[in-house]
Amino acid sequence: MSPPSAMTIEPVSPVRTFQKPNVNSIPLRSANSKTLDEMAGKWETDFTFAPIRESQVSRAMTRRYFKDLDTYAESDIVIVGAGSCGLSAAYMLGKARPDLKIAIIEASVSPGGGAWLGGQLFSAMVMRKPADAFLTDLGVEFEDEGDFVVVKHAALFTSTLLSKVLQFPNIKLFNATCVEDLITRNAGDPADPTAVQIAGVVTNWTLVTMHHDDQSCMDPNTINAPIIISTTGHDGPFGAFCVKRLVSMGQLEKLNGMRGLDMNTAEDAIVKGTREIVPGLIVGGMELSEIDGSNRMGPTFGAMVLSGCKAAEAALEAFDQRKAECSA
Ligand SMILES: Cc1cc2nc3c(=O)[nH]c(=O)nc-3n(C[C@H](O)[C@H](O)[C@H](O)COP(=O)(O)OP(=O)(O)OC[C@H]3O[C@@H](n4cnc5c(N)ncnc54)[C@H](O)[C@@H]3O)c2cc1C
Repeated sequence: MSPPSAMTIEPVSPVRTFQKPNVNSIPLRSANSKTLDEMAGKWETDFTFAPIRESQVSRAMTRRYFKDLDTYAESDIVIVGAGSCGLSAAYMLGKARPDLKIAIIEASVSPGGGAWLGGQLFSAMVMRKPADAFLTDLGVEFEDEGDFVVVKHAALFTSTLLSKVLQFPNIKLFNATCVEDLITRNAGDPADPTAVQIAGVVTNWTLVTMHHDDQSCMDPNTINAPIIISTTGHDGPFGAFCVKRLVSMGQLEKLNGMRGLDMNTAEDAIVKGTREIVPGLIVGGMELSEIDGSNRMGPTFGAMVLSGCKAAEAALEAFDQRKAECSA
């Protein structure tokens, strides 16, 4: 859904700090480094770590993290959930738009969602064609079985995707961090004065989010962004978080609930249904099945990656439209 023309325009952040990556700025070997070959066989005689003071470790971490919190407090796009769909969206956005600030918020310590294994904890990952195009783009090898392809281990797919996403200089992953609410503004829709547009996310350390019932006064943090992509899945402690919140704030009438397993209909439905649900909030992946009442698909992952590609496209379209409205 495109934002109504009368909607309030949330300003798009004017700060543009990112440039195309300069690979020369990443030293792969420091001047005083040894090679592994130079160390080999000398572990007892000629080996010691370089000295360090503990506070140097603390400062090396905290300085960067707090700089990132400052940088991404105003983001261009926030992705909620780093499962196969969210990471695929991040990969496409990172490739297409090095000028945008993109924050990924992942509740778990370990990103990747349900894509570390195939079905029933087996290793191989199945993707139906045409999702093999994403694997080819990513550089992940597969066996071609005709109408579908098989990656030898789901972890090979997820670790490659994650590694590529993390290398984009304009993407920051905040893991162990939970989105626990959405920032809203009145959409200015004359037909519905209660309609909102989404203008950012409310975050907290996941461990804090999990203790609101037994501790008090643990206020959250915030990230403003004109576009949010929600890919929180259907399962787990925070599954389908954003669409559940839309229901509880009266922006969606109800969730239709994920239906039984039917691979043939489920995957098309997720990709086709990936869209802007309310202004500023695009939903993709299995979270969608909870709104649309579409079937589950089980252990076949093509819909997750192509839904991520479509979510990225929808996000860029909405972002550019919002920016044009701001400068009009
Ligand atoms: C236990 C299990 C059950 C499965 N059941 C099904 C099934 O019934 N049907 C089916 O089709 N496939 C199922 N799968 C297969 C497959 O895992 C999913 O289809 C696929 O992982 C969904 O991808 P996704 O990117 O949409 O969501 P996920 O892979 O679930 O990723 C969502 C990510 O969002 C994060 N997240 C959630 N809420 C928040 C929040 N508020 N803030 C920040 N991060 C958040 C989660 O930690 C997670 O990393 C299952 C997998 C597993 C492991």
